[in-house]
Amino acid sequence: MPYCPKCRAEYRPGIRICADCKVKLIAFLEPEEDNWVNFKEIYISYNELEAERIKALLEENWIDCIVRSMRISPYPLNIGNFSEHRIAVDEGKLPEAIELIREAIADEYISPRGKFKRK
Ligand SMILES: [Zn+2]
Repeated sequence: MPYCPKCRAEYRPGIRICADCKVKLIAFLEPEEDNWVNFKEIYISYNELEAERIKALLEENWIDCIVRSMRISPYPLNIGNFSEHRIAVDEGKLPEAIELIREAIADEYISPRGKFKRK
């Protein structure tokens, strides 16, 4: 089966390009890199801008992070406000990342409206 090297989606044989990523499919996926496997969601923000701020903040501190966004409202209005932005970080940097987000909230750099994910 062909796979997309970027989003790792599996495609039917014969398909050559990932519909989402527009990249060439490959025959086999490399085993996932450790730092990709170990991403853990730590925080949910309901504000797109804040999610971006958190991502920038974490990356400034050399913490790899991923933001996954999903709309939680069926209404097309206020998309930014009604969507959930799940922030995942490298598991090894978890305590550091939580501390950074806490500080950012304390400094009012981001609002306290998001929530931390508990294990
Ligand atoms: Zn893809």
